[in-house]
Amino acid sequence: MQVITTGKEMQAFSRKIRTEGKSIGFVPTMGALHEGHLSIVSRSVEENDITLVSIFINPTQFGPNEDFNKYPKDHKGDMEKLLSLNVDAVFLPDVAEMYPQGYSTFVYVGGIGGILCGASRPDHFNGVATVVTKLFNTVMPDRAYFGQKDYQQTVVISKMVRELCFDIDIVVCPVVREADGLAMSSRNAYLNEEERKAASILSKALEYGKELIMSGREQQTSLIKSKITALIQSEPLASIDYVEIVGPQYLEVVKEVKTPAVIVLAVKIGNTRLIDNIIVESN
Ligand code: AMP
Repeated sequence: MQVITTGKEMQAFSRKIRTEGKSIGFVPTMGALHEGHLSIVSRSVEENDITLVSIFINPTQFGPNEDFNKYPKDHKGDMEKLLSLNVDAVFLPDVAEMYPQGYSTFVYVGGIGGILCGASRPDHFNGVATVVTKLFNTVMPDRAYFGQKDYQQTVVISKMVRELCFDIDIVVCPVVREADGLAMSSRNAYLNEEERKAASILSKALEYGKELIMSGREQQTSLIKSKITALIQSEPLASIDYVEIVGPQYLEVVKEVKTPAVIVLAVKIGNTRLIDNIIVESN
Protein backbone atom coordinates (compact mmCIF):
# COMPACT_ATOMS: atom_id res chain seq x y z
CA MET A 1 0.00 0.00 0.00
CA GLN A 2 1.53 3.29 -1.12
CA VAL A 3 1.24 6.35 1.07
CA ILE A 4 1.19 9.54 -0.98
CA THR A 5 1.31 13.00 0.54
CA THR A 6 1.52 15.45 -2.35
CA GLY A 7 -1.05 16.26 -5.02
CA LYS A 8 1.55 16.04 -7.80
CA GLU A 9 2.58 12.49 -6.80
CA MET A 10 -1.05 11.48 -6.44
CA GLN A 11 -1.87 12.73 -9.94
CA ALA A 12 1.16 10.96 -11.42
CA PHE A 13 0.12 7.70 -9.70
CA SER A 14 -3.46 7.95 -11.00
CA ARG A 15 -2.43 8.98 -14.48
CA LYS A 16 -0.25 5.89 -14.77
CA ILE A 17 -3.10 3.62 -13.66
CA ARG A 18 -5.48 5.21 -16.11
CA THR A 19 -3.06 4.78 -19.02
CA GLU A 20 -2.91 1.08 -18.09
CA GLY A 21 -6.68 1.02 -18.65
CA LYS A 22 -7.47 0.16 -15.02
CA SER A 23 -10.44 1.56 -13.14
CA ILE A 24 -9.98 3.69 -10.01
CA GLY A 25 -12.39 3.68 -7.06
CA PHE A 26 -11.97 6.48 -4.54
CA VAL A 27 -13.16 6.82 -0.94
CA PRO A 28 -12.62 10.23 0.67
CA THR A 29 -12.54 10.17 4.50
CA MET A 30 -11.44 12.20 7.48
CA GLY A 31 -9.87 9.15 9.15
CA ALA A 32 -10.50 7.54 12.56
CA LEU A 33 -11.87 4.74 10.41
CA HIS A 34 -14.68 2.47 11.62
CA GLU A 35 -16.79 -0.31 10.09
CA GLY A 36 -18.91 2.27 8.22
CA HIS A 37 -15.87 3.54 6.34
CA LEU A 38 -14.54 0.03 5.82
CA SER A 39 -17.77 -1.21 4.24
CA ILE A 40 -17.45 1.56 1.63
CA VAL A 41 -13.80 0.79 1.04
CA SER A 42 -14.61 -2.93 0.57
CA ARG A 43 -17.27 -2.04 -1.96
CA SER A 44 -14.75 0.01 -3.93
CA VAL A 45 -12.18 -2.82 -3.76
CA GLU A 46 -14.81 -5.21 -5.16
CA GLU A 47 -15.88 -2.90 -7.97
CA ASN A 48 -12.58 -1.43 -9.18
CA ASP A 49 -9.08 -2.51 -10.24
CA ILE A 50 -7.48 0.01 -7.91
CA THR A 51 -8.85 1.62 -4.72
CA LEU A 52 -7.53 4.88 -3.33
CA VAL A 53 -8.56 6.25 0.06
CA SER A 54 -7.87 9.79 1.21
CA ILE A 55 -7.56 10.78 4.84
CA PHE A 56 -7.76 14.53 5.34
CA ILE A 57 -9.46 16.47 8.11
CA ASN A 58 -10.65 19.35 5.98
CA PRO A 59 -10.54 22.65 7.88
CA THR A 60 -12.79 24.52 5.43
CA GLN A 61 -15.83 22.39 6.27
CA PHE A 62 -15.64 23.15 10.01
CA GLY A 63 -17.16 26.28 11.53
CA PRO A 64 -15.09 28.51 13.84
CA ASN A 65 -16.48 26.97 17.05
CA GLU A 66 -16.59 23.39 15.84
CA ASP A 67 -14.37 20.39 16.57
CA PHE A 68 -11.64 20.75 13.92
CA ASN A 69 -8.87 20.86 16.53
CA LYS A 70 -10.07 17.86 18.48
CA TYR A 71 -11.40 15.69 15.64
CA PRO A 72 -10.45 12.04 16.41
CA LYS A 73 -7.24 10.72 14.82
CA ASP A 74 -5.92 7.15 14.61
CA HIS A 75 -3.18 7.06 11.99
CA LYS A 76 -1.78 3.65 12.95
CA GLY A 77 -5.19 1.97 13.22
CA ASP A 78 -6.32 3.51 9.92
CA MET A 79 -3.26 2.23 8.06
CA GLU A 80 -3.66 -1.29 9.47
CA LYS A 81 -7.35 -1.41 8.51
CA LEU A 82 -6.74 -0.16 4.96
CA LEU A 83 -3.83 -2.55 4.46
CA SER A 84 -6.02 -5.48 5.54
CA LEU A 85 -8.60 -4.51 2.91
CA ASN A 86 -6.01 -4.47 0.11
CA VAL A 87 -6.26 -0.77 -0.57
CA ASP A 88 -3.69 0.22 -3.18
CA ALA A 89 -2.82 3.71 -2.03
CA VAL A 90 -3.69 6.23 0.67
CA PHE A 91 -3.60 9.94 -0.05
CA LEU A 92 -2.59 11.78 3.12
CA PRO A 93 -2.04 15.45 2.33
CA ASP A 94 -1.49 18.01 5.08
CA VAL A 95 -3.37 21.30 5.33
CA ALA A 96 -0.55 23.29 3.69
CA GLU A 97 -0.57 20.91 0.72
CA MET A 98 -4.32 21.35 0.19
CA TYR A 99 -4.58 25.03 1.14
CA PRO A 100 -1.22 26.73 0.64
CA GLN A 101 -0.82 30.24 1.96
CA GLY A 102 -2.98 32.72 0.08
CA TYR A 103 -5.43 30.02 -1.06
CA SER A 104 -8.68 31.66 -2.19
CA THR A 105 -10.63 29.49 -4.65
CA PHE A 106 -13.83 27.85 -3.37
CA VAL A 107 -16.80 25.94 -4.77
CA TYR A 108 -20.07 27.55 -3.65
CA VAL A 109 -23.13 25.34 -3.18
CA GLY A 110 -26.31 27.40 -3.55
CA GLY A 111 -29.82 26.26 -2.57
CA ILE A 112 -29.54 22.84 -0.91
CA GLY A 113 -26.19 23.84 0.59
CA GLY A 114 -27.97 26.28 2.88
CA ILE A 115 -30.71 24.08 4.36
CA LEU A 116 -30.75 21.35 7.07
CA CYS A 117 -27.08 20.91 8.11
CA GLY A 118 -26.19 23.92 5.96
CA ALA A 119 -28.53 26.12 8.02
CA SER A 120 -26.76 25.30 11.30
CA ARG A 121 -23.33 24.98 9.70
CA PRO A 122 -22.97 27.86 7.23
CA ASP A 123 -20.13 27.25 4.74
CA HIS A 124 -19.97 23.55 5.66
CA PHE A 125 -21.05 22.36 2.22
CA ASN A 126 -18.90 24.96 0.46
CA GLY A 127 -15.96 23.43 2.32
CA VAL A 128 -17.07 19.89 1.42
CA ALA A 129 -17.62 20.75 -2.26
CA THR A 130 -14.26 22.54 -2.42
CA VAL A 131 -12.25 19.70 -0.92
CA VAL A 132 -14.08 17.01 -2.91
CA THR A 133 -13.43 18.96 -6.13
CA LYS A 134 -9.73 19.21 -5.29
CA LEU A 135 -9.59 15.52 -4.40
CA PHE A 136 -11.42 14.52 -7.59
CA ASN A 137 -8.98 16.55 -9.70
CA THR A 138 -6.05 15.01 -7.85
CA VAL A 139 -7.16 11.37 -7.67
CA MET A 140 -9.04 11.34 -11.02
CA PRO A 141 -11.26 8.38 -10.08
CA ASP A 142 -13.79 6.57 -12.27
CA ARG A 143 -16.08 6.04 -9.26
CA ALA A 144 -16.26 7.80 -5.90
CA TYR A 145 -17.92 6.20 -2.89
CA PHE A 146 -19.89 8.04 -0.21
CA GLY A 147 -22.02 6.91 2.74
CA GLN A 148 -25.76 7.44 3.02
CA LYS A 149 -25.00 8.32 6.65
CA ASP A 150 -24.33 11.88 5.39
CA TYR A 151 -27.44 12.00 3.23
CA GLN A 152 -27.38 15.69 2.41
CA GLN A 153 -23.70 15.41 1.49
CA THR A 154 -24.51 12.69 -1.07
CA VAL A 155 -27.17 14.94 -2.62
CA VAL A 156 -24.83 17.95 -2.68
CA ILE A 157 -21.97 15.95 -4.24
CA SER A 158 -24.20 14.24 -6.82
CA LYS A 159 -25.59 17.63 -7.86
CA MET A 160 -22.12 19.17 -8.00
CA VAL A 161 -20.85 16.32 -10.16
CA ARG A 162 -23.77 16.83 -12.58
CA GLU A 163 -23.56 20.60 -12.64
CA LEU A 164 -19.77 20.90 -12.88
CA CYS A 165 -19.57 18.03 -15.40
CA PHE A 166 -17.22 15.72 -13.51
CA ASP A 167 -16.87 12.42 -15.39
CA ILE A 168 -17.18 10.41 -12.17
CA ASP A 169 -19.87 7.98 -10.99
CA ILE A 170 -21.05 8.62 -7.44
CA VAL A 171 -21.86 5.44 -5.52
CA VAL A 172 -23.87 5.80 -2.30
CA CYS A 173 -23.44 3.00 0.26
CA PRO A 174 -25.84 2.03 3.09
CA VAL A 175 -25.50 3.25 6.69
CA VAL A 176 -23.58 0.86 8.96
CA ARG A 177 -24.95 0.80 12.51
CA GLU A 178 -23.97 -0.40 15.97
CA ALA A 179 -26.04 -3.21 17.53
CA ASP A 180 -28.42 -0.70 19.18
CA GLY A 181 -29.00 1.15 15.92
CA LEU A 182 -26.62 4.09 16.42
CA ALA A 183 -25.06 5.03 13.08
CA MET A 184 -21.30 4.55 13.25
CA SER A 185 -19.42 7.83 13.26
CA SER A 186 -15.93 8.96 14.20
CA ARG A 187 -17.64 11.52 16.44
CA ASN A 188 -19.26 8.75 18.55
CA ALA A 189 -15.86 8.66 20.30
CA TYR A 190 -16.83 11.95 22.01
CA LEU A 191 -19.75 10.30 23.85
CA ASN A 192 -19.38 9.17 27.47
CA GLU A 193 -21.12 5.99 28.60
CA GLU A 194 -24.39 7.67 29.52
CA GLU A 195 -24.46 9.72 26.30
CA ARG A 196 -23.63 6.65 24.24
CA LYS A 197 -26.75 4.93 25.58
CA ALA A 198 -28.86 8.04 25.02
CA ALA A 199 -27.63 8.34 21.41
CA SER A 200 -29.69 5.32 20.33
CA ILE A 201 -32.70 7.68 20.43
CA LEU A 202 -31.74 8.96 16.93
CA SER A 203 -32.23 5.64 15.15
CA LYS A 204 -35.24 4.77 17.33
CA ALA A 205 -36.88 8.04 16.28
CA LEU A 206 -36.15 7.32 12.61
CA GLU A 207 -37.59 3.80 12.82
CA TYR A 208 -40.66 5.19 14.58
CA GLY A 209 -41.13 7.83 11.88
CA LYS A 210 -40.75 5.22 9.16
CA GLU A 211 -43.38 3.04 10.86
CA LEU A 212 -45.80 5.96 11.08
CA ILE A 213 -45.39 6.73 7.40
CA MET A 214 -45.58 3.09 6.27
CA SER A 215 -48.70 2.43 8.33
CA GLY A 216 -50.49 5.13 6.35
CA ARG A 217 -52.11 6.39 9.58
CA GLU A 218 -50.39 9.76 9.26
CA GLN A 219 -49.65 11.66 6.09
CA GLN A 220 -49.29 15.20 7.35
CA THR A 221 -45.59 15.95 7.59
CA SER A 222 -46.11 18.32 10.53
CA LEU A 223 -47.90 15.64 12.58
CA ILE A 224 -45.32 12.96 11.89
CA LYS A 225 -42.54 15.43 12.69
CA SER A 226 -44.12 16.39 16.00
CA LYS A 227 -44.42 12.74 17.03
CA ILE A 228 -40.78 12.05 16.15
CA THR A 229 -39.78 15.23 17.97
CA ALA A 230 -41.68 14.21 21.10
CA LEU A 231 -39.93 10.84 21.18
CA ILE A 232 -36.49 12.48 20.91
CA GLN A 233 -37.43 14.99 23.59
CA SER A 234 -38.25 12.11 25.95
CA GLU A 235 -34.47 11.59 26.15
CA PRO A 236 -33.13 14.19 28.62
CA LEU A 237 -29.62 14.33 27.10
CA ALA A 238 -30.94 15.04 23.59
CA SER A 239 -31.50 18.47 22.06
CA ILE A 240 -32.82 18.71 18.53
CA ASP A 241 -31.13 20.76 15.83
CA TYR A 242 -33.62 19.70 13.14
CA VAL A 243 -36.00 16.92 12.18
CA GLU A 244 -37.33 17.03 8.60
CA ILE A 245 -39.04 14.78 6.11
CA VAL A 246 -37.81 15.57 2.63
CA GLY A 247 -37.84 14.35 -0.95
CA PRO A 248 -34.86 12.09 -1.75
CA GLN A 249 -33.41 14.04 -4.66
CA TYR A 250 -34.01 17.74 -3.98
CA LEU A 251 -34.46 17.65 -0.19
CA GLU A 252 -37.67 19.63 -0.55
CA VAL A 253 -40.05 19.70 2.42
CA VAL A 254 -43.53 18.54 1.52
CA LYS A 255 -46.81 19.11 3.40
CA GLU A 256 -48.00 15.57 2.87
CA VAL A 257 -45.55 12.70 2.91
CA LYS A 258 -45.18 10.77 -0.33
CA THR A 259 -42.81 7.84 -0.63
CA PRO A 260 -39.95 7.68 -1.35
CA ALA A 261 -39.11 10.18 1.36
CA VAL A 262 -36.15 10.62 3.68
CA ILE A 263 -36.39 11.43 7.36
CA VAL A 264 -33.29 13.42 8.23
CA LEU A 265 -32.27 14.66 11.64
CA ALA A 266 -29.49 16.30 13.60
CA VAL A 267 -29.53 15.96 17.37
CA LYS A 268 -27.04 16.99 20.02
CA ILE A 269 -26.35 14.41 22.70
CA GLY A 270 -24.64 16.43 25.40
CA ASN A 271 -22.17 18.52 23.38
CA THR A 272 -21.89 16.10 20.48
CA ARG A 273 -23.90 16.83 17.35
CA LEU A 274 -24.95 13.64 15.57
CA ILE A 275 -26.78 13.21 12.26
CA ASP A 276 -28.75 10.29 10.88
CA ASN A 277 -31.44 9.53 8.32
CA ILE A 278 -33.67 6.80 6.97
CA ILE A 279 -35.11 6.33 3.50
CA VAL A 280 -38.80 5.41 3.50
CA GLU A 281 -39.90 3.56 0.40
CA SER A 282 -43.21 1.86 -0.23
CA ASN A 283 -42.98 -1.91 -0.57
P1 AMP B 1 -16.02 10.95 7.23
O1 AMP B 1 -14.69 10.35 7.56
O2 AMP B 1 -16.92 11.11 8.40
O3 AMP B 1 -15.91 12.18 6.36
O4 AMP B 1 -16.75 9.86 6.31
C1 AMP B 1 -16.17 9.38 5.11
C2 AMP B 1 -17.24 8.65 4.34
O5 AMP B 1 -17.72 7.56 5.12
C3 AMP B 1 -18.45 9.54 4.05
O6 AMP B 1 -18.90 9.29 2.73
C4 AMP B 1 -19.46 9.11 5.07
O7 AMP B 1 -20.79 9.27 4.68
C5 AMP B 1 -19.13 7.63 5.20
N1 AMP B 1 -19.61 7.09 6.48
C6 AMP B 1 -19.36 7.59 7.71
N2 AMP B 1 -20.03 6.86 8.65
C7 AMP B 1 -20.71 5.91 7.97
C8 AMP B 1 -21.59 4.84 8.37
N3 AMP B 1 -21.91 4.62 9.64
N4 AMP B 1 -22.11 4.05 7.40
C9 AMP B 1 -21.81 4.27 6.10
N5 AMP B 1 -21.00 5.25 5.67
C10 AMP B 1 -20.44 6.05 6.58
